[in-house]
Amino acid sequence: MNDQINRDVVEKIKGLAEQFRQPMTDFLADLIRIQSYTGHETPAVDRTLAELKLIGCDEVWTDSAGNALGRIGNGKKIILFNAHLDTNEVSDASQWPHPPLEPVIDGNILFGLGASDCKAGVAAIVYGAAILKKLDLLKNVSVVVMGATLEEDAEGFGLRSLVERDGLVPDCVLLAEATNLTIRRGHRGRCEVHVRTQGKTVHASTPHLGENAILKMAPVIEAVQGMNGSLPSHPVFGDGTQVVTLINGPHTPNSVPDWCEIAIDRRLVPGETKESIVESIQAIVQPLGGTTSIPIQPVLSHTGLRLDGPSFYPGWLMDENEPIIEIGKLTFQSLWDKPAVVDVWKFSTDGTYSAGVANIPTMGFGPQEEPFVHTSQDQVNLDKLVDAAMFYALFPVIYEQIAGANNKN
Ligand SMILES: [Zn+2]
Repeated sequence: MNDQINRDVVEKIKGLAEQFRQPMTDFLADLIRIQSYTGHETPAVDRTLAELKLIGCDEVWTDSAGNALGRIGNGKKIILFNAHLDTNEVSDASQWPHPPLEPVIDGNILFGLGASDCKAGVAAIVYGAAILKKLDLLKNVSVVVMGATLEEDAEGFGLRSLVERDGLVPDCVLLAEATNLTIRRGHRGRCEVHVRTQGKTVHASTPHLGENAILKMAPVIEAVQGMNGSLPSHPVFGDGTQVVTLINGPHTPNSVPDWCEIAIDRRLVPGETKESIVESIQAIVQPLGGTTSIPIQPVLSHTGLRLDGPSFYPGWLMDENEPIIEIGKLTFQSLWDKPAVVDVWKFSTDGTYSAGVANIPTMGFGPQEEPFVHTSQDQVNLDKLVDAAMFYALFPVIYEQIAGANNKN
Protein backbone atom coordinates (compact mmCIF):
# COMPACT_ATOMS: atom_id res chain seq x y z
CA MET A 1 0.00 0.00 0.00
CA ASN A 2 1.28 3.42 -0.94
CA ASP A 3 1.05 5.82 2.00
CA GLN A 4 1.34 8.96 -0.11
CA ILE A 5 -1.51 7.89 -2.43
CA ASN A 6 -3.66 7.19 0.60
CA ARG A 7 -2.84 10.54 2.19
CA ASP A 8 -3.97 12.28 -1.00
CA VAL A 9 -7.12 10.16 -1.15
CA VAL A 10 -7.92 10.91 2.49
CA GLU A 11 -7.59 14.66 1.88
CA LYS A 12 -9.85 14.44 -1.19
CA ILE A 13 -12.43 12.40 0.73
CA LYS A 14 -12.47 14.88 3.61
CA GLY A 15 -12.97 17.77 1.18
CA LEU A 16 -15.78 16.03 -0.70
CA ALA A 17 -17.54 14.99 2.52
CA GLU A 18 -17.62 18.65 3.60
CA GLN A 19 -18.93 19.66 0.16
CA PHE A 20 -21.71 17.08 0.55
CA ARG A 21 -22.63 18.18 4.10
CA GLN A 22 -25.64 20.21 2.92
CA PRO A 23 -27.16 17.78 0.37
CA MET A 24 -26.60 14.89 2.81
CA THR A 25 -28.37 16.82 5.58
CA ASP A 26 -31.21 17.76 3.22
CA PHE A 27 -31.63 14.13 2.17
CA LEU A 28 -31.73 13.00 5.81
CA ALA A 29 -34.29 15.71 6.65
CA ASP A 30 -36.46 14.51 3.74
CA LEU A 31 -36.27 10.91 4.99
CA ILE A 32 -37.36 12.01 8.46
CA ARG A 33 -40.40 13.79 7.01
CA ILE A 34 -41.50 10.49 5.43
CA GLN A 35 -43.24 8.12 7.83
CA SER A 36 -41.84 4.64 7.18
CA TYR A 37 -43.03 2.04 9.65
CA THR A 38 -42.04 -1.56 8.96
CA GLY A 39 -43.79 -2.94 5.88
CA HIS A 40 -44.85 0.55 4.77
CA GLU A 41 -41.58 1.89 3.41
CA THR A 42 -42.64 2.66 -0.20
CA PRO A 43 -42.27 6.49 -0.08
CA ALA A 44 -38.94 6.27 1.80
CA VAL A 45 -37.67 3.71 -0.73
CA ASP A 46 -38.71 5.97 -3.62
CA ARG A 47 -36.99 8.97 -2.03
CA THR A 48 -33.81 6.92 -1.56
CA LEU A 49 -33.87 5.68 -5.17
CA ALA A 50 -34.10 9.31 -6.33
CA GLU A 51 -31.03 10.23 -4.25
CA LEU A 52 -29.10 7.20 -5.52
CA LYS A 53 -29.81 8.37 -9.08
CA LEU A 54 -28.81 11.92 -8.20
CA ILE A 55 -25.39 10.89 -6.85
CA GLY A 56 -24.66 9.05 -10.10
CA CYS A 57 -25.01 5.37 -9.23
CA ASP A 58 -24.19 3.10 -12.16
CA GLU A 59 -27.36 1.15 -11.47
CA VAL A 60 -30.39 1.89 -9.27
CA TRP A 61 -33.10 -0.68 -8.58
CA THR A 62 -35.35 -2.41 -6.06
CA ASP A 63 -35.29 -6.14 -5.33
CA SER A 64 -38.37 -8.34 -4.80
CA ALA A 65 -38.66 -7.38 -1.13
CA GLY A 66 -38.55 -3.71 -2.10
CA ASN A 67 -35.15 -2.76 -0.68
CA ALA A 68 -33.70 0.41 -2.31
CA LEU A 69 -30.43 -0.44 -4.08
CA GLY A 70 -27.74 1.49 -5.91
CA ARG A 71 -24.38 0.33 -7.28
CA ILE A 72 -21.12 2.21 -7.79
CA GLY A 73 -18.44 0.51 -9.90
CA ASN A 74 -18.24 -2.74 -11.84
CA GLY A 75 -15.71 -4.74 -9.82
CA LYS A 76 -16.46 -8.37 -9.07
CA LYS A 77 -16.00 -8.05 -5.33
CA ILE A 78 -19.09 -6.53 -3.76
CA ILE A 79 -19.12 -4.47 -0.57
CA LEU A 80 -22.68 -4.00 0.68
CA PHE A 81 -23.46 -0.83 2.65
CA ASN A 82 -26.61 -1.54 4.67
CA ALA A 83 -28.84 0.81 6.66
CA HIS A 84 -32.59 0.45 7.15
CA LEU A 85 -35.35 2.87 6.20
CA ASP A 86 -38.08 1.61 8.52
CA THR A 87 -38.44 3.10 12.01
CA ASN A 88 -40.11 1.91 15.15
CA GLU A 89 -43.49 3.45 15.93
CA VAL A 90 -44.00 6.54 18.07
CA SER A 91 -45.98 5.70 21.20
CA ASP A 92 -46.58 9.24 22.55
CA ALA A 93 -45.67 12.19 20.30
CA SER A 94 -46.33 14.64 23.17
CA GLN A 95 -43.17 13.36 24.87
CA TRP A 96 -41.00 14.52 21.94
CA PRO A 97 -39.18 17.89 22.01
CA HIS A 98 -40.34 18.45 18.39
CA PRO A 99 -42.96 16.62 16.29
CA PRO A 100 -41.32 13.27 15.38
CA LEU A 101 -41.69 13.71 11.61
CA GLU A 102 -40.44 17.30 11.64
CA PRO A 103 -36.65 17.48 11.21
CA VAL A 104 -35.32 20.24 13.46
CA ILE A 105 -31.69 21.35 13.47
CA ASP A 106 -30.33 22.88 16.66
CA GLY A 107 -26.64 23.75 16.36
CA ASN A 108 -25.10 20.64 14.81
CA ILE A 109 -27.79 18.25 16.06
CA LEU A 110 -30.64 17.09 13.86
CA PHE A 111 -33.73 15.81 15.70
CA GLY A 112 -36.42 13.56 14.23
CA LEU A 113 -37.90 10.06 14.20
CA GLY A 114 -35.40 7.56 12.85
CA ALA A 115 -32.44 9.98 12.93
CA SER A 116 -30.51 7.55 15.14
CA ASP A 117 -32.17 4.37 13.87
CA CYS A 118 -31.34 4.34 11.10
CA LYS A 119 -31.94 7.18 8.65
CA ALA A 120 -28.66 8.99 9.40
CA GLY A 121 -26.99 5.69 8.51
CA VAL A 122 -28.81 5.69 5.17
CA ALA A 123 -27.69 9.27 4.44
CA ALA A 124 -24.08 8.42 5.39
CA ILE A 125 -23.85 5.35 3.15
CA VAL A 126 -25.50 7.10 0.19
CA TYR A 127 -23.03 9.99 0.46
CA GLY A 128 -20.09 7.67 1.11
CA ALA A 129 -20.99 6.18 -2.25
CA ALA A 130 -21.35 9.67 -3.76
CA ILE A 131 -17.76 10.45 -2.74
CA LEU A 132 -16.58 7.13 -4.21
CA LYS A 133 -18.31 7.97 -7.49
CA LYS A 134 -16.43 11.29 -7.66
CA LEU A 135 -13.10 9.65 -6.76
CA ASP A 136 -13.52 6.90 -9.38
CA LEU A 137 -10.76 4.73 -7.87
CA LEU A 138 -12.41 1.31 -7.62
CA LYS A 139 -11.40 -1.40 -10.10
CA ASN A 140 -11.93 -4.87 -8.60
CA VAL A 141 -14.53 -3.74 -6.11
CA SER A 142 -18.05 -2.43 -6.49
CA VAL A 143 -20.19 -0.94 -3.74
CA VAL A 144 -23.90 -1.65 -3.40
CA VAL A 145 -25.87 0.74 -1.19
CA MET A 146 -28.93 -0.83 0.43
CA GLY A 147 -31.72 1.24 1.94
CA ALA A 148 -33.11 -1.80 3.74
CA THR A 149 -36.71 -2.55 4.70
CA LEU A 150 -38.35 -4.68 7.43
CA GLU A 151 -35.48 -4.37 9.90
CA GLU A 152 -37.36 -3.18 12.97
CA ASP A 153 -39.84 -6.08 13.09
CA ALA A 154 -37.75 -8.79 11.46
CA GLU A 155 -34.09 -7.88 11.23
CA GLY A 156 -32.24 -9.84 8.57
CA PHE A 157 -35.37 -10.88 6.64
CA GLY A 158 -35.00 -8.16 3.96
CA LEU A 159 -31.29 -8.86 3.57
CA ARG A 160 -31.93 -12.60 3.40
CA SER A 161 -34.37 -11.99 0.55
CA LEU A 162 -31.81 -9.91 -1.38
CA VAL A 163 -29.15 -12.61 -1.00
CA GLU A 164 -31.21 -15.79 -1.32
CA ARG A 165 -34.12 -14.76 -3.54
CA ASP A 166 -32.49 -12.13 -5.75
CA GLY A 167 -28.99 -13.66 -5.74
CA LEU A 168 -26.92 -10.65 -4.73
CA VAL A 169 -24.19 -12.21 -2.57
CA PRO A 170 -21.83 -9.58 -1.14
CA ASP A 171 -18.22 -10.31 -0.13
CA CYS A 172 -18.66 -8.19 2.97
CA VAL A 173 -21.35 -6.15 4.69
CA LEU A 174 -21.03 -2.81 6.49
CA LEU A 175 -23.94 -1.95 8.78
CA ALA A 176 -24.52 1.77 9.38
CA GLU A 177 -26.42 1.30 12.65
CA ALA A 178 -25.66 3.35 15.76
CA THR A 179 -22.04 2.95 16.87
CA ASN A 180 -21.03 6.57 17.62
CA LEU A 181 -18.15 6.22 15.11
CA THR A 182 -16.77 3.07 16.72
CA ILE A 183 -16.44 -0.33 15.07
CA ARG A 184 -18.85 -3.10 16.08
CA ARG A 185 -18.04 -6.74 15.43
CA GLY A 186 -21.12 -8.59 16.65
CA HIS A 187 -24.15 -8.81 18.90
CA ARG A 188 -26.18 -11.36 20.86
CA GLY A 189 -28.98 -13.11 19.05
CA ARG A 190 -32.61 -13.42 20.03
CA CYS A 191 -35.37 -15.95 19.64
CA GLU A 192 -39.05 -16.07 20.51
CA VAL A 193 -40.15 -19.36 22.03
CA HIS A 194 -43.68 -20.50 22.81
CA VAL A 195 -44.56 -23.05 25.47
CA ARG A 196 -48.07 -24.45 25.55
CA THR A 197 -50.00 -26.44 28.11
CA GLN A 198 -53.12 -28.41 27.26
CA GLY A 199 -56.13 -28.94 29.56
CA LYS A 200 -59.78 -29.89 29.30
CA THR A 201 -62.52 -27.30 29.15
CA VAL A 202 -65.71 -27.47 31.22
CA HIS A 203 -68.12 -24.88 32.60
CA ALA A 204 -66.42 -22.73 35.22
CA SER A 205 -69.16 -23.65 37.74
CA THR A 206 -67.87 -27.23 37.82
CA PRO A 207 -64.06 -26.79 37.66
CA HIS A 208 -63.35 -30.17 39.30
CA LEU A 209 -64.61 -31.88 36.11
CA GLY A 210 -62.05 -30.11 33.89
CA GLU A 211 -58.31 -29.64 33.61
CA ASN A 212 -57.08 -26.04 33.94
CA ALA A 213 -54.31 -25.21 31.43
CA ILE A 214 -53.42 -21.96 33.25
CA LEU A 215 -52.79 -23.83 36.52
CA LYS A 216 -50.63 -26.29 34.61
CA MET A 217 -48.66 -23.33 33.25
CA ALA A 218 -47.76 -21.92 36.69
CA PRO A 219 -44.93 -24.41 37.43
CA VAL A 220 -43.82 -24.17 33.77
CA ILE A 221 -43.26 -20.40 34.18
CA GLU A 222 -41.27 -20.99 37.37
CA ALA A 223 -39.13 -23.59 35.63
CA VAL A 224 -38.50 -21.40 32.57
CA GLN A 225 -37.43 -18.48 34.76
CA GLY A 226 -35.27 -20.85 36.78
CA MET A 227 -33.19 -21.69 33.71
CA ASN A 228 -31.53 -18.23 33.92
CA GLY A 229 -28.01 -18.63 35.25
CA SER A 230 -27.47 -21.93 33.47
CA LEU A 231 -28.07 -20.78 29.87
CA PRO A 232 -25.17 -20.82 27.37
CA SER A 233 -22.52 -18.24 28.23
CA HIS A 234 -19.90 -16.37 26.17
CA PRO A 235 -16.64 -14.59 27.12
CA VAL A 236 -17.64 -11.38 25.26
CA PHE A 237 -21.43 -11.36 25.60
CA GLY A 238 -21.82 -12.90 29.04
CA ASP A 239 -24.78 -15.11 29.96
CA GLY A 240 -27.77 -15.73 27.74
CA THR A 241 -31.09 -14.73 29.33
CA GLN A 242 -34.73 -15.64 28.97
CA VAL A 243 -37.87 -13.97 30.26
CA VAL A 244 -41.59 -14.70 29.97
CA THR A 245 -43.12 -11.73 28.12
CA LEU A 246 -46.68 -12.76 27.15
CA ILE A 247 -49.37 -15.15 28.34
CA ASN A 248 -52.37 -16.16 26.28
CA GLY A 249 -55.39 -18.47 26.42
CA PRO A 250 -59.03 -18.74 25.34
CA HIS A 251 -61.02 -15.55 26.06
CA THR A 252 -63.87 -17.31 27.89
CA PRO A 253 -64.02 -16.10 31.51
CA ASN A 254 -66.76 -18.59 32.46
CA SER A 255 -64.98 -21.73 31.21
CA VAL A 256 -62.01 -23.67 32.52
CA PRO A 257 -59.30 -22.92 29.92
CA ASP A 258 -58.21 -25.90 27.85
CA TRP A 259 -55.01 -24.23 26.62
CA CYS A 260 -52.48 -21.71 27.78
CA GLU A 261 -49.44 -20.39 25.93
CA ILE A 262 -46.53 -18.24 27.08
CA ALA A 263 -44.04 -16.36 24.93
CA ILE A 264 -40.42 -16.29 26.03
CA ASP A 265 -37.88 -13.74 24.82
CA ARG A 266 -34.56 -15.53 24.80
CA ARG A 267 -31.22 -13.74 24.20
CA LEU A 268 -28.60 -15.92 22.58
CA VAL A 269 -24.85 -16.20 22.37
CA PRO A 270 -23.25 -17.04 18.99
CA GLY A 271 -23.52 -20.72 18.10
CA GLU A 272 -26.97 -21.43 19.55
CA THR A 273 -29.39 -22.96 17.04
CA LYS A 274 -33.16 -23.31 16.82
CA GLU A 275 -32.80 -26.97 17.70
CA SER A 276 -30.52 -26.38 20.70
CA ILE A 277 -32.92 -23.77 22.10
CA VAL A 278 -36.07 -25.88 21.70
CA GLU A 279 -34.35 -28.97 23.13
CA SER A 280 -33.05 -27.16 26.19
CA ILE A 281 -36.46 -25.68 27.08
CA GLN A 282 -38.39 -28.83 26.19
CA ALA A 283 -36.21 -30.87 28.55
CA ILE A 284 -37.38 -28.64 31.43
CA VAL A 285 -41.07 -28.17 30.54
CA GLN A 286 -41.99 -31.60 29.14
CA PRO A 287 -42.16 -33.29 32.58
CA LEU A 288 -44.58 -30.51 33.60
CA GLY A 289 -46.81 -31.06 30.56
CA GLY A 290 -45.50 -28.22 28.36
CA THR A 291 -44.62 -28.34 24.66
CA THR A 292 -42.08 -25.99 23.09
CA SER A 293 -41.96 -24.38 19.65
CA ILE A 294 -40.49 -21.42 17.80
CA PRO A 295 -43.33 -19.41 16.24
CA ILE A 296 -43.40 -18.21 12.65
CA GLN A 297 -43.00 -14.44 12.42
CA PRO A 298 -45.42 -13.01 9.87
CA VAL A 299 -43.54 -10.57 7.61
CA LEU A 300 -45.12 -8.76 4.65
CA SER A 301 -42.94 -6.49 2.54
CA HIS A 302 -44.24 -3.20 1.12
CA THR A 303 -44.14 -4.86 -2.30
CA GLY A 304 -46.64 -7.48 -1.09
CA LEU A 305 -44.12 -10.31 -0.81
CA ARG A 306 -44.58 -12.68 2.14
CA LEU A 307 -41.32 -13.36 3.98
CA ASP A 308 -42.71 -15.29 6.97
CA GLY A 309 -40.07 -17.27 8.83
CA PRO A 310 -39.11 -18.64 12.25
CA SER A 311 -38.71 -15.95 14.89
CA PHE A 312 -35.03 -16.81 15.31
CA TYR A 313 -32.21 -14.25 14.96
CA PRO A 314 -28.80 -15.78 15.64
CA GLY A 315 -25.95 -13.91 17.33
CA TRP A 316 -22.56 -13.40 15.71
CA LEU A 317 -19.05 -12.23 16.50
CA MET A 318 -16.23 -11.42 14.06
CA ASP A 319 -12.73 -12.18 15.27
CA GLU A 320 -10.76 -8.97 15.99
CA ASN A 321 -8.19 -10.15 13.43
CA GLU A 322 -10.68 -10.75 10.60
CA PRO A 323 -9.64 -8.77 7.50
CA ILE A 324 -12.88 -6.76 7.55
CA ILE A 325 -12.20 -5.55 11.11
CA GLU A 326 -8.53 -4.86 10.29
CA ILE A 327 -9.58 -2.84 7.23
CA GLY A 328 -12.10 -0.97 9.36
CA LYS A 329 -9.41 -0.11 11.91
CA LEU A 330 -7.01 0.99 9.15
CA THR A 331 -9.72 3.16 7.59
CA PHE A 332 -10.36 4.86 10.94
CA GLN A 333 -6.64 5.34 11.65
CA SER A 334 -6.05 6.80 8.17
CA LEU A 335 -8.85 9.33 8.60
CA TRP A 336 -8.31 10.47 12.17
CA ASP A 337 -4.77 9.43 13.20
CA LYS A 338 -5.96 7.49 16.22
CA PRO A 339 -6.98 3.87 16.83
CA ALA A 340 -10.63 2.91 16.45
CA VAL A 341 -12.60 1.62 19.42
CA VAL A 342 -13.87 -1.91 18.66
CA ASP A 343 -16.90 -3.14 20.59
CA VAL A 344 -20.12 -5.17 20.28
CA TRP A 345 -23.75 -4.00 20.08
CA LYS A 346 -26.41 -4.46 22.73
CA PHE A 347 -29.17 -4.68 20.09
CA SER A 348 -29.69 -6.90 17.04
CA THR A 349 -29.24 -5.85 13.39
CA ASP A 350 -29.39 -7.19 9.82
CA GLY A 351 -26.01 -8.77 10.70
CA THR A 352 -28.02 -11.60 12.28
CA TYR A 353 -28.49 -12.81 8.71
CA SER A 354 -25.28 -11.72 6.95
CA ALA A 355 -22.90 -12.92 9.67
CA GLY A 356 -25.16 -15.12 11.81
CA VAL A 357 -26.62 -17.23 8.98
CA ALA A 358 -24.73 -16.57 5.73
CA ASN A 359 -21.22 -16.26 7.24
CA ILE A 360 -20.49 -13.11 5.25
CA PRO A 361 -17.84 -10.94 6.94
CA THR A 362 -19.81 -8.13 8.61
CA MET A 363 -18.92 -4.99 10.54
CA GLY A 364 -20.80 -2.07 12.08
CA PHE A 365 -19.92 1.61 11.83
CA GLY A 366 -22.33 4.53 12.06
CA PRO A 367 -22.66 8.16 13.15
CA GLN A 368 -25.70 7.62 15.39
CA GLU A 369 -25.49 7.16 19.15
CA GLU A 370 -27.10 4.20 20.93
CA PRO A 371 -28.62 6.16 23.85
CA PHE A 372 -30.98 8.00 21.42
CA VAL A 373 -32.21 4.88 19.60
CA HIS A 374 -35.96 4.28 20.11
CA THR A 375 -36.30 7.31 22.41
CA SER A 376 -38.13 10.63 22.18
CA GLN A 377 -34.69 12.28 22.05
CA ASP A 378 -34.01 10.67 18.65
CA GLN A 379 -31.20 12.69 17.03
CA VAL A 380 -27.89 12.64 15.20
CA ASN A 381 -24.83 14.86 15.34
CA LEU A 382 -24.29 16.27 11.81
CA ASP A 383 -20.50 16.47 12.23
CA LYS A 384 -20.52 12.73 12.94
CA LEU A 385 -22.71 12.22 9.88
CA VAL A 386 -20.04 13.84 7.71
CA ASP A 387 -17.33 11.76 9.43
CA ALA A 388 -19.26 8.56 8.75
CA ALA A 389 -19.58 9.41 5.04
CA MET A 390 -15.77 9.79 4.95
CA PHE A 391 -15.38 6.37 6.53
CA TYR A 392 -17.76 4.79 4.01
CA ALA A 393 -15.83 6.40 1.14
CA LEU A 394 -12.38 5.28 2.31
CA PHE A 395 -13.21 1.73 3.44
CA PRO A 396 -13.68 0.31 -0.11
CA VAL A 397 -10.46 1.97 -1.28
CA ILE A 398 -8.44 0.25 1.46
CA TYR A 399 -10.45 -2.96 1.01
CA GLU A 400 -9.43 -3.02 -2.64
CA GLN A 401 -5.77 -2.47 -1.72
CA ILE A 402 -5.79 -5.30 0.85
CA ALA A 403 -8.50 -7.85 0.00
CA GLY A 404 -8.40 -7.08 -3.74
CA ALA A 405 -4.64 -7.61 -3.84
CA ASN A 406 -4.86 -10.92 -1.96
CA ASN A 407 -7.48 -12.38 -4.22
CA LYS A 408 -7.90 -11.13 -7.76
CA ASN A 409 -11.27 -12.80 -8.26
ZN1 LIG B 1 -31.72 -0.04 13.48
